[in-house]
Formats: sequence, C-alpha cells, structure tokens
Amino acid sequence: MHEENYQPDTLGIRAGTVRSQFGEHSEALFLTSSFVFESAAQAAARFIGEEPGNIYARFTNPTVTMFEQRLAALEGAEQCVATASGMAAILACVMGVLKAGDHVVASVSLFGATVNLFNNIIRKFGIETTYVSASNVAEWQAAVRPNTRLFFLETPSNPLTEISDIAAIAAVAKSRGVLLAVDNCFCTPILQRPLELGADIVIHSATKYLDGQGRVLGGAVLGNKKTLEGVYGFLRTAGPTMSAFNAWIFLKGMETLKLRMDAHSAAALQLAQWLEAQPNVVRVFYPGLPSHPQHELAMRQQKTGGGIVAFEVKGGKEAAWRVIDNTKMLSITANLGDTRTTICHSASTTHARISAEARAAAGISDGLIRIGVGLEAVCDIQNDLARGLNC
Ligand SMILES: *Cc1c(COP(=O)(O)O)cnc(C)c1O
Repeated sequence: MHEENYQPDTLGIRAGTVRSQFGEHSEALFLTSSFVFESAAQAAARFIGEEPGNIYARFTNPTVTMFEQRLAALEGAEQCVATASGMAAILACVMGVLKAGDHVVASVSLFGATVNLFNNIIRKFGIETTYVSASNVAEWQAAVRPNTRLFFLETPSNPLTEISDIAAIAAVAKSRGVLLAVDNCFCTPILQRPLELGADIVIHSATKYLDGQGRVLGGAVLGNKKTLEGVYGFLRTAGPTMSAFNAWIFLKGMETLKLRMDAHSAAALQLAQWLEAQPNVVRVFYPGLPSHPQHELAMRQQKTGGGIVAFEVKGGKEAAWRVIDNTKMLSITANLGDTRTTICHSASTTHARISAEARAAAGISDGLIRIGVGLEAVCDIQNDLARGLNC
C-alpha cells in the first residue's frame, strides 16, 4: 500500500493494518507478553537483530506496531514509537535526545505536567529549561545558548489558544542546530502536520482525540529514525510502552479521527460565534474566529480552529463557577478530546498551582472557562451554558 498517496480519511482507516494467518478484517489484538521462536538459532538471530520479528512486548507487539504505522502515515513521519501516556512520550523524548548539561527552550504556555517534568524532574539530571513567549519568535532566538539542544512547544496553547509559528521557530532551531519538538495533541495530524513545517519531533497524548472517547491512556513520539533512536532505546529499556489493548482502542479511534475532527471543529466554531454574541461574555478565544489576534497564521498552519474554545465571563470567578454549576449535561472535568463536551475553570484547576501573579501575566483571568467541544448537538451545548450565563 503506497500510503503517501491516500487522503487522511483513508489513512486513519487503512494505514498500518497487517493481517494474521486467520485473515481477520478488523485488526487483531495480540494479548501476549512474549513471542516464541522456532529454534535456538532463530532466538539468537532475533536477539542480535539479524532477523526482524517480535521478541517481547516491551520491545514490540504487532497490535502496537499497527498503531505506530497508522499514526506515522497520518503525520508523514518516518518512524513512530508508542508510549504508555502522553507524559511518557514527553519523558521518552527528553531522555532520548538530551544529556546532563543540555539546555531546553520551551513555550511558557505548556501543559501543566510538562512544565512540572521540566522544572522538577529533568532538572535534577542537570538539564535546565528557559521559558519564552509561545508566539514571539525573537524570544526563542535570544534564549539559545551554546548548549541548547531542544525547543519544545504546543500550539494552539491551552487554554488561551495562542498560536506558535511552527515554520518560523523551526527555522531558528535549524540555524542553531537545535531540535524542535511539537506537542500536536490539540490539532492531531488531521488539522496540523508539524514535520511538514520543519519540526523534528511530534509528540502526542493519544489519550485525547486519537482515542476520542475518553477510555484509555497512551502517547507517541514521531520523527525520523535517526532522531528517534535514543527515544526507542529509552522506552525499550525503561518500559513505559503502550499496552496492546490500548493500541487496539486507538486503532478503532483513528478510523473516525477525520470525521470527528471535522465535526469538533464545526461545532466549536459555531459555539465560539454564539459565545461572542452573549452580553455576559467579555472575550472569546478561538483561532477560527476572525477576532483571534493570530487568525491568519492559525488558518495557514491549521486546517480549522480545532475543538477547544475558551471564554471570559463578566463577574470573575463567581460568575464562571455559576456557569459551570448550572450546566446539567456538560462534564465538569479537565479532560478534552472526547465525544462528550467538557467544561473547566482554568484558574482553579489546571492552572491552580501557579501563583495569581503568574496567572495574570499569562492572561488566565478568574472569569475564564475552557470548553472541549464534543459531538452533542450544538444547540444543546448552548442551552446548557445559557442557563448560568444569563442569570
Ligand atoms: C493531556 C496532555 C498531555 C499528557 O498526556 P497524558 O496522556 O495525560 O499523559 C500532554 N500534552 C497535552 C497538550 C495534553 O493535553
């Protein structure tokens, strides 16, 4: 199958499928921790890498391999390595490409656990991180030191949907001999393909849109074989690899990824436009709206505005909590990328552990609400929000 010639809809359904001797139509779930050899000689050949094939599920598993091949085809990557979670993917990336004494430049608006990993875990191993504006390319350039090895960003950012110009930051990285890693969790390859824009590494939390139904944790690191050599080496040795069962769930999820991303995006745009017209809403943050300060860049870089909408209500925390507490259908949770619409108050949940001053500097006000727009009817989502907004 010449997968590069197929559309994303097709790749999500077909790419990576390998049938066993039984000819099953749906991908097989191989629940086995190890694999049997035909002879001592074959075992020896497998272990020294002379003969390709499975040995042990910490190294490879056929169901996990199908997941890796499918996601690699969607991202246009030479290689994909699957991990136990999105955070395991970020850890594997860091452990695979960095060593003690190296320096990282990262966007200030990263997922909270990622910041925690950089500040409190890899720092212990002598790797320092400098944070810069997600959108100001000059800051990335200025932060580079002789020992800088990695740029790390997420776009659009959470929850304010700030856009990083991947091509421009990749050009800076390339000119300074630095690798650029992009966490592509919010867009998925359906909306944005960072490797085509010059990034070296793509990270996924498969937990979000790749599953799409909030069932299991997983992640992935993608890039060319040479860049990923150390990443795979770390995973194979340390063990935070993806379970075969979870890979099978993700394979099913990816079959509808294109359909879902289109539907999430259309619903999010409709909801964002409706929110902009509500008298008690001060501001709406959604890259698909012409009022977004980086709308043009977003529409050049991403196919749509995506499924995440944030908005600020008049009346601060009290008003924001009233909107949340008056919903009857929306799920009050910090998760996203689900068929079910989720709602959360960023300042008191995902960003509660940073100081009020740091939150204010980042623009996360007390009236801010983030919605992970699901696939219910948009009018039902609007009615659920209107109850608390209009009282
Ligand atoms: C959820 C998330 C992660 C972490 O993924 P887990 O699967 O929860 O470990 C990383 N980055 C982003 C942008 C996320 O939303």
